[in-house]
Amino acid sequence: MSRARAALDALRARAVPIDRYLNLRSLQRADAETFYRVLVSAPKELMPFVYTPVVGEACERYHDLPVRAHGVYITADDAGKVGAKLRRHWREEMRWVRDACGGATRGVETGATDDPVSVAVVTDGERILGLGDLGAGGMGISEGKILLYTVCAGVHPSTCLPVCLDVGTNNERLLNDPNYKGLRRKRLKGEAYDALVDEFMREMRAWQPSCLVQFEDFGNANAFRILEKYRHSGPCFNDDIQGTAAITLAALLGALRVTKGKLEDQRVLFYGAGEAGVGIGELIAMAMEKTGMSHKEAMERCYFMDSKGLVCKSRLDGLQPHKVAFAHDVQFQPDLLSAIDAIKPTALIGVSTIGQAFTEDVVKRMCSINERPIIFPLSNPTSKSECTFEQAMAWSDGKVVFASGSPFDPVVRKRDGVTVFPAQANNAYVFPALGYAAALTHATQVTDDLFLAAAESLAGITSDAEIDAGHLFPDMNSIRDVSVTLTAEICEMIVAKSLGRAPSGVSTHEDWLKYIASHQYDPGEEQPIASKL
Ligand code: NAP
Ligand code: MN
Repeated sequence: MSRARAALDALRARAVPIDRYLNLRSLQRADAETFYRVLVSAPKELMPFVYTPVVGEACERYHDLPVRAHGVYITADDAGKVGAKLRRHWREEMRWVRDACGGATRGVETGATDDPVSVAVVTDGERILGLGDLGAGGMGISEGKILLYTVCAGVHPSTCLPVCLDVGTNNERLLNDPNYKGLRRKRLKGEAYDALVDEFMREMRAWQPSCLVQFEDFGNANAFRILEKYRHSGPCFNDDIQGTAAITLAALLGALRVTKGKLEDQRVLFYGAGEAGVGIGELIAMAMEKTGMSHKEAMERCYFMDSKGLVCKSRLDGLQPHKVAFAHDVQFQPDLLSAIDAIKPTALIGVSTIGQAFTEDVVKRMCSINERPIIFPLSNPTSKSECTFEQAMAWSDGKVVFASGSPFDPVVRKRDGVTVFPAQANNAYVFPALGYAAALTHATQVTDDLFLAAAESLAGITSDAEIDAGHLFPDMNSIRDVSVTLTAEICEMIVAKSLGRAPSGVSTHEDWLKYIASHQYDPGEEQPIASKL
């Protein structure tokens, strides 16, 4: 039996999800090639154990679990020596992954004197999934997301860097937990916080100029500001704002193939007006503008509710900046049902972190307005989902067009006994391909129209059969092929917009496809080892 087969069997023998997570982590250290071979062989089955939902539990219990961090911690105490720490850590402590996976020579040529880093995922742990401030436990999310660059897009693992900025935590449970290994103090704020982030970004750019930096799970007060500050001066994006927007727009375009609706006729109500919601709203508006609507008209198709009720003009005074463009001239509504009545949305998108917020009444009200209501409860992990697939199906008599953030099981539709599948709006369809494209082309910046193109391209790849079964996305087990197509298209667009450059000899679409497929990290077929039996 092959080592990968044995590892997969051992994994499946563990019933408890967090045990599978730990088992995979141990395998990663002990035998990295087998680890990647296993993940690449069954991404659909295994992704939930390295990413949402199980990574949420791992981050919550990070310091109680037997794990050793894979990435680099930059702490508030590292101010003034961030660059040195990054370099030393990369050279010495992350040597194991380069040794285990055959060196870095197959990574993006960056011109850096150290081994190249193609992509870095950085969090400050303040808003991990929908679980809030998990401080230094946020490392788990950077580690989980960086893996997907390799599994989905084929970025060489020895060129991937997970980072957690440990700036303290305001989570009392962690501050009082004797096992907590992060800085035991309140979060850094204001100028000192900005200075640390700035030092990190400056040092990353100086050290690894072509490295794509992905911001992940920052609190929204910082996320929008940081993105705006750095997005014009080097390759970076925020996956919660921009990646989520692309995957959700792709889900909406897929849903419209089911409802036979037109994008320009949609009215979208968001439950939650944070990073995810506002990012999605802006990208939907951008897509609507392409149909000929004005910017103002397009923005007025997106309505938001936050913890205080409907975001509207009468609330402009003191409204957080990221909500202002969606504060339309409509009457305030205090709750979701009254907002549905007032707005009459065709689509309802949950990005509130409030589990079970989409009640039976909410789903039924959406059904009373729409033949086929589009309902996407996107909050993660599963416990925070605004409703389950089963609930949405039961309450809508199977009429809902559904996508969630965390995976749900299929259900048998009551009225005809047909098995229907929930779509998972998994950011892993987009960010690995997009980030890899930026790194491959040495992109000078990552613009919003790249996310729009990625969403349209992904929606176009989904087959009619997949749409009919409810998936709204291509099969996750074909993610490597999907990523090659997306990466190629985004590379071409980056080059066409003069935001980056092509490797020599690569110019046509076919060239790109070939180049990217041949540069995907491939853990390869192993030689079967003799069975011990
Ligand atoms: P965020 O920036 O913290 O935003 C959360 C929003 O929810 C805020 O606007 C907040 O209101 C609002 N909210 C809180 N309680 C509410 C209530 N009772 N009623 C209505 N709104 C309420 O977080 P985020 O980055 O947008 O992420 C939100 C969720 O989306 C998370 O669970 C995350 O895991 C999930 N997500 C899913 C995907 C995906 O499916 N692919 C991708 C990214 C994120 P205030 O503004 O008033 O505080
Ligand atoms: Mn995230």
